[in-house]
Amino acid sequence: MTGLLSMAYLLAGVFFILSLGGLSSQETARRGNNYGIAGMLIAIVATVASAAVEAYFVLAIAVAVGAAIGLWLASRVEMTAMPQLVALLHSFVGLAAVLIGWAAYLDPRSQLTGAEKVIHNTEIYLGIFIGAITLTGSWAAYGKLQGILSSKPLALPGRHLMNAAAILVSLVFLFMFAPDGHGAGDATLLLLMTLIALLLGAHLVAAIGGADMPVVISMLNSYSGWAAAATGFMLGNDLLIITGALVGSSGAILSYIMCRAMNRSFISVILGGFGTDSGSSNDDEDYGEARSSSADEVAGWLRDADSVVIAPGFGMAVAHAQQAVAELTSTLRKQGKTVRFAIHPVAGRLPGHMNVLLAEANVPYDIVLEMDEINDDLPKTDVVLVIGANDICNPDAQEKPGSPIAGMPVLEVWHAHQVVILKRSMATGYAGVSNPLFYRDNSSMLFGDAKESVQALVSKL
Ligand code: NDP
Repeated sequence: MTGLLSMAYLLAGVFFILSLGGLSSQETARRGNNYGIAGMLIAIVATVASAAVEAYFVLAIAVAVGAAIGLWLASRVEMTAMPQLVALLHSFVGLAAVLIGWAAYLDPRSQLTGAEKVIHNTEIYLGIFIGAITLTGSWAAYGKLQGILSSKPLALPGRHLMNAAAILVSLVFLFMFAPDGHGAGDATLLLLMTLIALLLGAHLVAAIGGADMPVVISMLNSYSGWAAAATGFMLGNDLLIITGALVGSSGAILSYIMCRAMNRSFISVILGGFGTDSGSSNDDEDYGEARSSSADEVAGWLRDADSVVIAPGFGMAVAHAQQAVAELTSTLRKQGKTVRFAIHPVAGRLPGHMNVLLAEANVPYDIVLEMDEINDDLPKTDVVLVIGANDICNPDAQEKPGSPIAGMPVLEVWHAHQVVILKRSMATGYAGVSNPLFYRDNSSMLFGDAKESVQALVSKL
């Protein structure tokens, strides 16, 4: 039976690896998803059938309730609210690690001695530590993404010193706790560390500015994987170790890729913005008057253009404008114009957000280009339509060293002959900074909901 269980776990692990491989490109993402589902099914069936599981009735109720909540949430969640949902799901993994850690600590059946006891205590300690950071870090991320907390960084005085002290104290407690674990005061040490880690998680994420949130989300994804792996060690469950390590390392790789894409230091972001100042807002800067155009005027520019680039952002997702944008694209292409999409790596609110929406609207993949592939072509472009995007094309990222988005590579749309920005108002984007692009001589605003504005352009063309 144990051999069969190991085989099933191994098979599930292989499916998870195939799933990650599939999810790395749009063409294979669906297949990757199916592999993931198959792996998870095998994992659940094998675990339930294993000798370790006895309380079938309780388990059945838990699975039924969990599945019902999952189905309900998945069916009603908006695409734009996915990051919040992901943050909440990460918090569950953290919570589970904390609870399982405490349950393992309080388990009266544990009879380990010597080195095994020290290792087990260390597993419990680290599992709870990582789990607690993931739990409150994810809650803070949820709050920021949902707009409950400000997207601006929380800059408490001496914050890096506080973080360093919290990590140091937790480390000292570990060395005091691990050798015995059940001596006088050990439970208090564990409790104090849990509280410190809970505060640390919330503080680390609260200190990160809106523009750096993509890295935070992938980083919490990574933490949740390591928390699951630590839980696997506590429970002696190989599959949980494999799965946790896969999630942990793929999340770390994604965080690294996002950091590189945004020109941020990985270490600085995971340490709550260490080594960076929180930047000064440019709200009070006088950029002059922005020019506004009518749909008629913009349609005229498009009619005269040979090359058009569309830079979509979060507003396209909010407006559900992707189908209308696809229709505009095909109308322009039928008129013999070159139309391409410029995708910033952090456009929208989750990695690949724009690619998913455009794929859903059947926009051909070969005209959807990454930022690095299209930036050099923008000076030769006749018209750029910035659809519901803001931070990802803010020139201050390059031109204003003190800006919260300074150093972040952006779509250099202002080099195009004519730029049209489709949004509802002059409001800022997620990073909360004004955008001087709107006031440039070659820029014009087309105010209104992105879907309605694009539909108006299609009807005029
Ligand atoms: P932004 O959040 O910078 O800007 C979106 C703009 O869309 C807003 O200024 C808003 O202006 C406009 N908008 C909203 N609704 C509509 C609508 N119905 N019709 C037309 N316009 C609309 O988005 P970007 O995509 O440019 O940048 C993404 C930001 O999110 C970056 O700061 C990034 O770091 C951050 N982020 C990204 C994540 C990721 O993984 N991709 C995760 C978390 C954060 P108005 O209200 O005037 O219409």
